[in-house]
Amino acid sequence: MMKLTMVGDSFVGKTSLALQFTQDFFPHDHKPTITDIETRVLNIEGQDVLFQIWDTAGQDKFRSLLPLYLRGVDGALLVYDVTKQDSFKNILTWISEVRKAASGNPVMALVGNKTDLKDYKCVTTQDGEQLASEQGMIFIETSAKSGHNVHQAFFEVGKEVLKRT
Ligand code: GDP
Repeated sequence: MMKLTMVGDSFVGKTSLALQFTQDFFPHDHKPTITDIETRVLNIEGQDVLFQIWDTAGQDKFRSLLPLYLRGVDGALLVYDVTKQDSFKNILTWISEVRKAASGNPVMALVGNKTDLKDYKCVTTQDGEQLASEQGMIFIETSAKSGHNVHQAFFEVGKEVLKRT
């Protein structure tokens, strides 16, 4: 079993990514009510891995819960919205929150979401790649809406977690 936590600003698509991965489903018109923890089994290199995905809310009032969400975590997906520069800038804060709260050395992935909104993209792929390589993170761009790279994002994190254990 692997515990993975979704972090990042509100509205970047954390819940949508978790649902697309665990249920192959993109909720179109309203914020879905989901449990905080979603699970899915994925086979990685011959091993069945149970992913336990903890979905955090980005609002400040929930920040006090972060240590609980990050306790014993194997990996964190740090999500920003490729159409919102602020959500990318705030990733540095999220990185330090994860490093502070997680014990050990969790795998971290930088996830640029909403790539389907091509005309509004303002955070370039190069910006993402550069930050990820500076911080020793996996980098991937996704669309929770189209499903593009969503499984791949979790798969890459899972593979890296297995490598480290
Ligand atoms: P969270 O607050 O980070 O959990 O974000 P949500 O998953 O609730 O998504 C916030 C809004 O962005 C919702 O209206 C989603 O439908 C929308 N959204 C999430 N992912 C995508 C995506 O990949 N593409 C587009 N176009 N919209 C998305």
